[in-house]
Amino acid sequence: MTSKKEDVKIILVMGKSGSGKQPRIDCLAEEFGFMQVSTGNLFRACIGLFNSVDFKGELKSAWDDSKNDFKPDTDLLKIVEEHAANKDVLSSAATNKETLILGMKAKYFVEAGLFCPDSITNGIFANAFETYFSAPLETCGSKRRGLILDGFPRTLPQGQFLDDLLKKHNLKIDFILEVDLDDDTIIKRTTDRRICPKCQAVFHLMFKPPRDEKFCTECGTEVKQRADDASEALLRNRLKEYTDKVAPTLAKYKADGIPVATVTGNLPDMKPETIRNSVMGAVDKLF
Ligand SMILES: [Zn+2]
Repeated sequence: MTSKKEDVKIILVMGKSGSGKQPRIDCLAEEFGFMQVSTGNLFRACIGLFNSVDFKGELKSAWDDSKNDFKPDTDLLKIVEEHAANKDVLSSAATNKETLILGMKAKYFVEAGLFCPDSITNGIFANAFETYFSAPLETCGSKRRGLILDGFPRTLPQGQFLDDLLKKHNLKIDFILEVDLDDDTIIKRTTDRRICPKCQAVFHLMFKPPRDEKFCTECGTEVKQRADDASEALLRNRLKEYTDKVAPTLAKYKADGIPVATVTGNLPDMKPETIRNSVMGAVDKLF
């Protein structure tokens, strides 16, 4: 059932990496006054918090080989406390211990070169979700309480986890914005992407060029191409992962009757007005 536009609280944005999700997310964030939650950013934040304690121990001590799982969180916290060079972070009331331990677990997989299992991704998402929905609205950084989810859920089990979590809060996915773009166009575009190594601002040689095609417009640093963006094999791999894992999740949501607004990632230009007309034109049809 389609709800009223004023009642919307949860929006999912789905699309392949490089399809141009972020400008559409910016538009929805402005239109609805919601905060964006990206699993990529959540991972970086959790791992960043863990890094800030300057852990001098062995990450593999977090793992219990006999159970093929992590040791209990209370044990992990003890391990961190014992081997943290920066005790100030640990003793600060502002430090969320759950986030810290999730960061430790995520880093364990990253360092081992392994894919993070759904259980960790779900845990990291749930932690951010619960924090947001339990905090007073004034501290949430958004005008209305609602979220735009980006990069979660990817897999079917993550989708099931999200459904259960939302149900617990008496929420549901109100609609999905799907950004659609073919693989060849994505590859052409992604190789034109540049990033500022200092402030992480993202540029595009065609749509959002750096100053003199070379320098960050925010801080003046020379922009670089990310190694992942330069390799066509890696990009093809990333796109295949979308087809294998994310596309079935989107198909299931469509089958479940969740409203989906599909927009093209291929607009004649990327002016805010053009994006807005495309996104809100499609979204308004749902209500
Ligand atoms: Zn910069």
